[in-house]
Amino acid sequence: MPGRILLLDPQVTNRMMLKSQLTRDFFEVALASDAAELTQSLRFAPPDLVLLSYAAEKTAGFENIIRLTQSQKTAHIPVIFLHDGSDTSVWDAAHDCLADDVLAYTTQRWLMAARINMLIRGKEKLDSLIARQTTITQMGFAEPTAIYPPQFVRAFDLDISCALKIFDPPFAQKVSALLNRHFPMLNMIRTQITGNDPPAADVTIVDETSLGRTAAFQTICELRKRNPEKETSILYSCSTNSPNAVRSLELGAQEFIPASAGPSCFATALRRMIWQKQMSYRTERAVANHLKSALTDPLTGLYNRRYGLQYLGQHLARSKTSVTAMILDLDRFKQVNDTYGHLTGDLVLQEAAKRLLGNIRSADLLCRYGGEEFLIILRDTPLETLQEIADRLRRAICCTPFLDDRENRIAVSASIGVSTTQASGGREPMEVLEFADRALYRAKHAGRNRVIFGDQAA
Ligand code: GH3
Ligand code: MG
Ligand code: MG
Repeated sequence: MPGRILLLDPQVTNRMMLKSQLTRDFFEVALASDAAELTQSLRFAPPDLVLLSYAAEKTAGFENIIRLTQSQKTAHIPVIFLHDGSDTSVWDAAHDCLADDVLAYTTQRWLMAARINMLIRGKEKLDSLIARQTTITQMGFAEPTAIYPPQFVRAFDLDISCALKIFDPPFAQKVSALLNRHFPMLNMIRTQITGNDPPAADVTIVDETSLGRTAAFQTICELRKRNPEKETSILYSCSTNSPNAVRSLELGAQEFIPASAGPSCFATALRRMIWQKQMSYRTERAVANHLKSALTDPLTGLYNRRYGLQYLGQHLARSKTSVTAMILDLDRFKQVNDTYGHLTGDLVLQEAAKRLLGNIRSADLLCRYGGEEFLIILRDTPLETLQEIADRLRRAICCTPFLDDRENRIAVSASIGVSTTQASGGREPMEVLEFADRALYRAKHAGRNRVIFGDQAA
């Protein structure tokens, strides 16, 4: 997963030392020695994360953060401020400048890698949300406003009932005051709401020092199980050196933070999480309110071809990594209609859509490409995983017969054509789809119920 880091440090020895450390943790590192080089690099090869390392020139560092975070093209790229640890006011200033994290040079290597990974993972989610939002705007369904950070859209709930040891009234007050500038309608929930399915807060803080490790982990798991439609984002706090931090991410927390962190450190993490929540809320709402009928298929509820093509175009234009299109076509589907009737055919299509949805990852996009054809778009997926996914989709159709309302057991299979492009820059969606289509054609001719990979489109 590690991504590309753009590291700015004016001192050559620092630069080399940090680069060597980050490279050992499998990050790709680009270097800049001053603001001009940083800007240049940002423009031509936007990284996944920016590390601003200023041992001495703090003010210049803050100015750079401001410049970065104010530009529309780079506002979603996380920024970490790296300092020598001597000045504790650095957190407040970094928070003001919309930085995403502050680390000292002395931070242990695993912890630095873990925090960088966490931020890069958050950015990946944002990238996907931004692509969705841009698609909607380009199609003329939303005003072309600034996408990130999102404009304030609604009231937000922050549940602090599992972190009361940290969030005593004065501390909660300070965090509220810091967040107030961006979220004037933030509601802090202090008492845990019991009951079978209490409404999930937008963000929940789970603090290990308040609950103890076992209860804290259990809380994460319970929150994850609850209310999948309106998931809460979890911020896990624990002692600075605890490897539990990374475990909490595996269990489903979105971020972790040292329990000893000050109000501005908490406010920074919360701001980022709330912004991300707002992005997904706004995207969902836009789709729900304005676009549903225009962008989805009424029979299966999936996105339609129009959306799929635009979405694929977005990814091909933006992605630096692989983009894959799979076209899945149900085999001899005309026979199903002819034998069991068109209504049964419809039921099979609906059930097939459900099965396919259940077998892709949340970041993949499934749409109804045509009558009995589905398109799956996947990003950044190695070849072996693609093979596994395609075969899983094929088996999801053929391994269990479909049932209609007269209890007929209908055997259906599907053929899949795959086209994957490694360096996607400049490729047209139709070109990629043509490769997938040709592979599908070969799958049909080779006897159906199989997956064929097309020649690489790059
Ligand atoms: P092949 O294995 O070569 O793909 O054979 P096929 O029969 O699946 O392909 P063909 O293109 O000949 O037929 C596709 C069929 O899918 C014909 C059409 O009636 C059916 N179909 C397309 N859309 C719908 C739909 O919305 N509902 C139903 N019930 N059938 C549909
Ligand atoms: Mg077809
Ligand atoms: Mg067919």
